[in-house]
Amino acid sequence: MLEDKPELYRGLTYPWGRGVNPTPGEPEKIAEGIYWARFPMPMSLDHINIWLLEDEDGWTVVDTCLNIASAREIWEQLLSGFMQGKPVKRVICTHLHPDHVGLAGWLTERFDCELWMSREEFLMCRAMAGDTGSSAPDVAIRFYQGAGYTEEQLERYRKKFGNFGKAIAPLPHSFRRLVDRETITIGDRYWQIVVGSGHSPEHTALYCPALKLLISGDQVLPRITPNVSVFPTEPEGDPLKEWLRSSARIRDILPDDVLVLPAHEAPFYGLHVRMTQLIEIHKRDLNKLFDHLSQPRRAVDCFPALFKREIGDGSLGLATGETLAHLNCLLGRHRITRTGDAQGVDWYEQIPETAEYD
Ligand SMILES: [Zn+2]
Repeated sequence: MLEDKPELYRGLTYPWGRGVNPTPGEPEKIAEGIYWARFPMPMSLDHINIWLLEDEDGWTVVDTCLNIASAREIWEQLLSGFMQGKPVKRVICTHLHPDHVGLAGWLTERFDCELWMSREEFLMCRAMAGDTGSSAPDVAIRFYQGAGYTEEQLERYRKKFGNFGKAIAPLPHSFRRLVDRETITIGDRYWQIVVGSGHSPEHTALYCPALKLLISGDQVLPRITPNVSVFPTEPEGDPLKEWLRSSARIRDILPDDVLVLPAHEAPFYGLHVRMTQLIEIHKRDLNKLFDHLSQPRRAVDCFPALFKREIGDGSLGLATGETLAHLNCLLGRHRITRTGDAQGVDWYEQIPETAEYD
């Protein structure tokens, strides 16, 4: 059972402390009919929170973990133990990332139930999974060349390409679409769909006014700043603009006194503070990047402006995507220029007269 142990940290209140860590296979009760299961993952982000919602004679589950043996084992343990052999009636995925969608196909097939997801997340997930096993397209190579990758770094990208589908069980061929601001019924509760964009194209959070709960997926995380990246599929995209807009909108339309149930780390109070923090972090980063571009630089030269840590091979892809998101945002605001050189590398430079712009 969760023990009341309110911890105030950086403006957020964690009712059960920041370090609370439910044992896998033994979900914790959050509210009547709402349970928190934690699944460990073998990576630096070492767990995901899965939400189990009582749904009449069965369960609705929100997010599913990676398609790995250890996660399937935890599901087996939950299904026969805590979930009392009752069926999964519906699988909801907040977004397309493998830690969320990994076992959705496995669960929906096993229980012959529907996958509920927003349309862009579903279609994008199927498209990305479709690349599994194929080789990296030329446009993607040119994209990373443009960012300033060395030949060695490009080679590592080629080797890693097409891995997305390996971490997810094949998705079903049809789905039930979730639409922004619609209200769905789970058990005897109403939940409102709240779509955000930037971390993924059409991320779905779920808000229950009666219980004052927000299942926030990766849209709102307490400590980590959710990754916002530009990828070769849409080189001119401006996901950071969408992210900033979504974050402000979530702060506008949802009350502050909800308990946020994030996909990673511990539940917390302080939604509005957190949204403001996330917006301010990116605004600060945009300004730091602008200052850094007082001379022409490539995307890979911009890491020191955005990241405190050294960017090694393991984090190069994410750091590049995140840097390009900030660069595209500044380009969209006409605060910097981009010039391609004869080698196909892009150089960015500030427009000094825009220093006062926000
Ligand atoms: Zn994610």
